[in-house]
Order: sequence, then C-alpha cells, then structure tokens
Amino acid sequence: MQSKNLTTTILLAMLFGGILGSVLNIFFMEVPFIRTILIDNIFYVIGQIFIDSLKMLVVPLVFISLVCGTASLGDINKLGRLGGKALLFYILTTALAITLALGLSVTIAPGEGFNQQSVETVEFVAKESPSLAQTIINMIPNNPIESMANGEMLPLIVFSILFGIAIVMAGESGKRIEKHFNDYNAIMMQMVNILMKLAPLGIFCLIAKTFALQGIDLIKPLLGYFIVVMTALLLHGLISYSILLKVLSGLSIRKFISKMRRVQIFAFSTASSNATIPVNIENSTNRFGVDNSVASFTIPLGATINMDGTAIMQGVATVFIANVYGIDLTMSDYLMVILTATLASIGTAGVPGVGLIMLAMVLNQVGLPVEGIALIIGVDRLLDMMRTAINVTGDAAATVIIAKSENGLNKEIYNS
Ligand code: ASP
Repeated sequence: MQSKNLTTTILLAMLFGGILGSVLNIFFMEVPFIRTILIDNIFYVIGQIFIDSLKMLVVPLVFISLVCGTASLGDINKLGRLGGKALLFYILTTALAITLALGLSVTIAPGEGFNQQSVETVEFVAKESPSLAQTIINMIPNNPIESMANGEMLPLIVFSILFGIAIVMAGESGKRIEKHFNDYNAIMMQMVNILMKLAPLGIFCLIAKTFALQGIDLIKPLLGYFIVVMTALLLHGLISYSILLKVLSGLSIRKFISKMRRVQIFAFSTASSNATIPVNIENSTNRFGVDNSVASFTIPLGATINMDGTAIMQGVATVFIANVYGIDLTMSDYLMVILTATLASIGTAGVPGVGLIMLAMVLNQVGLPVEGIALIIGVDRLLDMMRTAINVTGDAAATVIIAKSENGLNKEIYNS
C-alpha cells in the first residue's frame, strides 16, 4: 500500500472505531453478546495482539538502530553534541508545555465550585516514584540482557551507544560487525512495514473498545478539566512546535503536521510512547528524511525522557485539584510545579497511565492531597491517549530540528 493511502486507511479505521465504539456505548452495553464476545474478547484480543507486536519490535529495533546510528557517526564529539542538543530541547519544551498548561488553567480555573459527589471515584494508592538519584544510577545496566528483557529504555540506550562507540574503535573487526548491523537494521525496518499493514485492523479494535467502555457520562462532570487539558495539548502540539520548527529549522510546518498524523494515531491508540518508537523512527527516516544516526538516538531517548503532553496534564491536574480542595497556590508553588513536573516527565516511562502515578510526586511537592488523583482517574485513559500523541510529536519535532542543524536531513524527502 502506498504510504499516503496507508495513512488514510489508518485514519478511517480510527474514525470508524470511534463511531462504532460510541454507538455500542450508548445503545448496546446491556446486550451480553456485545459486551462479552465483541468488546471483551474480539476487540480486546485483536487490539492487544497489535500492541504486543509493536512492543515486540521496540527492544531489538532500538538496540540495532542505535548501534548502527552511533557507529555511523564515527565521532564521539558529534554524539556528545547530539546528546546535548536533544537534552536541552527536551527539557526546555517540557518546561514551556507546563508553563502554558498552568497559564491556561489559572485563567480558566477548572474545578472551582466542583461537586465531588458527581464523580465516581476509585481509590487511588500512590506508588512510590523513584528518586532522581536512583533514576541516574539506573541508567547504567548491571546486566544489559536483563535490561533488554525488562524493556528498560535508558540502560538499553546507554549500552547500545557504548557498543556503537566500541565498533568504531575496533577497526577492521568493528567494520565487519557494523555491516552486519546495517543488514539487521534493514530487516527490522521490514518488520515495522509488515506491522504497518496490520495497523488499520489493530487500531480499529483498540479505539472501538476504548470508546465503548469510556462513555461520555464519565467525562461530563469533569468536562472543565478535560477541555483545559485538551486545549493546552492542542495549543502546544500545533503552535509551540510549529514556531520552534520554523524558527530553529525553517522547515515546512504543513509537511510536518501532515506527515506526523500516522505516528500520532499510533500513539493515540496505544497510549504508549515506547510502543510507538518503531513507527516514529520509520517515519522520521523514511518520510522526513532524517539520518538514522540522529533518529535512532533522539526518538528512543525522547520516548523515555520527553513527555510534554504528560507535563501538561500534570499542570492542569494540579490546579484542578487545588481548586477542588479550595487550596490557594502561591507563585513559588507554581514554580515548584514547573520544576517537579519537568523532572517527573524525565522519570515517567513511556507506557500507559504512568503520568498519573508521577502526578503524585508533583502534588506532594506542593502539599496537595494525593487522593485528589482519584477524582480524575475516570477520564485519564482518553487524556492519556491524547497526551501520548503530543509526547511523540515532541520527539519527532526535536529529531527533525536537530537533524537539520547537523546536516542530517534530506530536504527533498522531507518536502516530498
Ligand atoms: N502514556 C504516556 C506515554 O507513553 C505516559 C503518560 O503520560 O502516562 O507517553
């Protein structure tokens, strides 16, 4: 299937899935066949198989393509520069995202006059979030195979980069192995292509199931919160990245937005930046024309530490919970929220729902009740899907901008 047709098919699959799911939710939830056979079995099984096959590719793809990327750079200075630029971009955009979210929430004030009885709350028990020091120590794998088996991204990234550097240093032996890795990389990309062909069905089932189970009733009492998060996500996704793209790289915004759609749908349906890594790397190299040496590094790193969408949700949620409990936040509280949400976003894994767990850390820092999370848990799945789409857009924007600045972007492919 042609690339453009595939994007259209995926988009239609998502739309039909959303429509069918909503119809099922409104009219057919009491029908036992619909609930048990269709939603809990057929949609669930196909959707889960799709997510698992995406995840299946993540570890081998990140390892192989990062080794290839690092080895092809052939120069440690360049690697350091790439790393520095990526870190700076990721941290600054996250801080910008959360500042935008706070500005919007303070203006609109969601949660004021909120009736707590109107939502069904689920008890929320905050899990212990890892300390910053531990996160840094954990970056070095004790055992790379164990890290791979557990899908731990940062240790995997560190090991793959070291492996790539060692290939460069190993002279002739390194050259032979690099050739093999390039072949493996081509094979992995074909695996991503196979999966893309199955995507419409997988995405249809995932979306239909989510919409069938997440009725509008759940959202109604929290509409204010929901709309503020959604608006901040849209503003950041459409305006902040467009300005950065134009100012820092001069590249076409329209091309970026239209070519990102497919990756965003993957992120939206899986609610996982990690599961979207293969598609995001493929999209950056094949459709934006980014060198594999850049994309293979910035995308997995971004999926692990760059969560602008998550930071936005955390900012709005903090103000919402403060309003519900009638607690005034001071200016220094807001600064604390910006700092902790930016750090929390580094520590948030790119899997569904973790952003909410890390929210506990932000609330704790400013002395807000962690139980407040129970109020918003009901609408979190849909917001998780949306914020993940923004998270992966940030990773791709950084990739394109950094690649352009390093002469690692083919403009013809980008503009095609
Ligand atoms: N689901 C998000 C991601 O994978 C993380 C989160 O906000 O929960 O990017």
